[in-house]
Amino acid sequence: MNCITLAARPQGAPKDSDFKLEMRDIPTPGDGEVLVRVHYMSLDPYMRGRMDDAKSYAEPVPIGGIMEGGGVGEVIASNHPQFSTGDMVFGMFGWTTHGVQHGTMLRKLPDGMPITTALGVLGMPGFTGWYGLTEIGKPKEGETLVVAAATGPVGSMVGQIAKSRGLRTVAIAGGAEKCKLATATFGFDAAIDHRAFDDARSLRKAIAEAAPDGIDIYFENVGGKVFEAVLPLMNRFGRIPVCGMISGYNTGALGGTAGEGPDKFPVFWRTLLVKHLLAQGFIISNHWDRFAEFVGEVAPLVASGKIAYLEDIAEGLDNAPGAFMGLLEGRNVGKQIVKLI
Ligand code: NDP
Repeated sequence: MNCITLAARPQGAPKDSDFKLEMRDIPTPGDGEVLVRVHYMSLDPYMRGRMDDAKSYAEPVPIGGIMEGGGVGEVIASNHPQFSTGDMVFGMFGWTTHGVQHGTMLRKLPDGMPITTALGVLGMPGFTGWYGLTEIGKPKEGETLVVAAATGPVGSMVGQIAKSRGLRTVAIAGGAEKCKLATATFGFDAAIDHRAFDDARSLRKAIAEAAPDGIDIYFENVGGKVFEAVLPLMNRFGRIPVCGMISGYNTGALGGTAGEGPDKFPVFWRTLLVKHLLAQGFIISNHWDRFAEFVGEVAPLVASGKIAYLEDIAEGLDNAPGAFMGLLEGRNVGKQIVKLI
């Protein structure tokens, strides 16, 4: 089998030499285990954190270890009673053409949907958007929501669920093409290109025009300049589901030490305090008990076309590192996937 391992811990943005393409023996499934030929694997922003050895909510990938990640593929050997050869499944196989997992760690894919949807719109990222918005954002008709990385699998789910519940939705996205997709494909009421603004102040002015009644929910995907722009525009009793901060993943500023520049915490805390804001972080892997509910609600909407999704499919395992580096810089248009077969 082929796999991609972690060759070195990146300093800043990952580069080609941080990854290594290796050939290894196909593993043999043990008791209760299942061997899978992976057809498509997922690339997700969280993988950048696994490349560092900073203390986090999950263990880092060791140097020489296979890069972590989810994939969908076909069972080619099974020692688990619930899985047979030919079943299509999702599992955390890593960046690899073949993987072995215990049967209890696998999920059978539903019939009737393209299997790639289990990596994006109907998988972990879509679930993240749905959960964070409904549980923490608590959207109410007539309110205004802002979300960045708005054409990605998390942001596009957030925008579409919010819109379906009668909110005004404002997308922040990188570049004119993504802004067009945000309104035309995902139904956002307005879209703002964050790359067109050098500083938070000018970006804030544009967001304020798109959100004339202020912001009730800011779904935090990116941090940085966008967060700085949004914070003063929050309405009293606004909610901030804190989902990710991708603008900082390559900078080292999230490793527990303060970043460069003036201390912005007093402004942040004061805004939280005087505006009665709620900001709550969440890690979606702690909420799998709600996954069936998510699929039950959203899968029919995807099947009927009421929820749209975009996928960006790179070809071949050797292109995974490049596609991943592109994801961190916003070169992906939609859910980043790698086709292996
Ligand atoms: P996307 O597919 O949307 O890809 C990431 C996007 O982030 C890029 O395409 C780019 O979009 C945007 N981006 C990159 N750098 C910046 C920057 N400096 N400023 C603003 N935007 C930037 O990713 P996902 O939908 O998979 O994930 C979105 C967020 O959700 C991430 O922060 C991720 O870590 C987080 N997440 C959190 C989970 C949790 O359990 N809490 C689970 C899953 C995801 P553009 O070009 O439009 O700016």
